[in-house]
Amino acid sequence: MIPVNEAIKIVLDQTSRLSTERVSLETALGRFLAEDIVADSDLPPFDRSQMDGYALRAEDTSNAPVKLRIVGESAAGSGWHNEMLPGQAVRIMTGAPVPSGADSVQQVELTREIDDTTVEILERVSTGRSIVKRAAEITKGTAVLHAGEQANAAMIAVFAAFGYAEVEVVRRPRVAVLATGSELVPVNQKPDRDQIRDSNNYSIGAYSEISGAVVERLPLAHDEPDQLKQIINDAAERSDVVITSGGVSMGVYDFTRAALKDLGAEIFFERVALRPGKPTVFGKLPNGTLLFGLPGNPVSVSVTFNLFARPSILKMQGAKEPNMKLEWAMLARETKGSLDRESYLPAQLLTDEQGRLMAHPLKWGGSSDFVSFARADALLVIPANLKNVEAGQVVRIVRLP
Ligand code: AMP
Ligand code: MG
Repeated sequence: MIPVNEAIKIVLDQTSRLSTERVSLETALGRFLAEDIVADSDLPPFDRSQMDGYALRAEDTSNAPVKLRIVGESAAGSGWHNEMLPGQAVRIMTGAPVPSGADSVQQVELTREIDDTTVEILERVSTGRSIVKRAAEITKGTAVLHAGEQANAAMIAVFAAFGYAEVEVVRRPRVAVLATGSELVPVNQKPDRDQIRDSNNYSIGAYSEISGAVVERLPLAHDEPDQLKQIINDAAERSDVVITSGGVSMGVYDFTRAALKDLGAEIFFERVALRPGKPTVFGKLPNGTLLFGLPGNPVSVSVTFNLFARPSILKMQGAKEPNMKLEWAMLARETKGSLDRESYLPAQLLTDEQGRLMAHPLKWGGSSDFVSFARADALLVIPANLKNVEAGQVVRIVRLP
């Protein structure tokens, strides 16, 4: 058995970034940048008015109310490009360039237009008021976003603002998902006596998709070594990762590990000091395809996918921080650890009236209770050898995606 942290490190060491591709701005959402995004202009590109009102010289308003002569109009998209002189004002709109000679904008609510050529400024204004100076936000040439960042909706605006109709991103990993077990039937089938419906293929597929992968769900495999080998081998040829579930325990019909070895896979670990999820297997086939052999229990699947497979899928995409982020919360109810393994137990996070993040351990029936687990939004990390952790203790948590 190896510690969880060591297992994660091995996974990341064995994972390399995939090749890159150009995608259109419209399809870049959620993708990981393979290039820095560089500003091709200052932002704002000119001194910009933040208000509808009058551009003027602050000095001219020191004895407000004061009357100024309106000499022009600067609208968004069509500025007034002359020199504004003392005693003058230019009618200006939000987003329009401030004419040279003006050093501030008085908002329209604090003015009164007397006629077409005269405005009364009702209150004095300070220099620089309601103007965003050229380059105050970004200077041309600055790298504003960096390779390894994941594009969110707000970043899409940044790509657009600097003329990136296409961006260079890392290609999405191809993940093949295989559920093994002679008891499994597909979702559209009524289980016979001794059978259950496969759910792991769907949860692993869903977790993989939210990690950025393109998923192929393979047909169900029986506990039959030759069939298993064949399916894994075929899938590996067109996949970056194969994720199996089931068949890694010590039962007479647990063939996954043997199948991987027969295929010439290098196995890096096959038992982790983790509860749930001890018999997790990680290896690599001779062609470089990574293999995660997750245990069959649906809850173990969720825990081991998120601890091991997800960081790998994220690192393949060049993610800056592929690991689950450790945070801290206060335990709301007493919980139990395990003697020789680190525990990752389902919990719900809620803030209390004192602003504390409280972790409520789920009442659940162990690693097969995936119905209760469906309401978990985090895992409590309880170190090995801690028998009891009392309510009020601060514990480490990781959020589930
Ligand atoms: P195993 O790791 O193959 O010993 O399976 C452990 C438990 O998980 C058994 O109760 C299996 O029936 C169950 N199980 C295995 N694969 C699946 C699956 N794809 N969907 C739902 N339950 C599964
Ligand atoms: Mg099985």
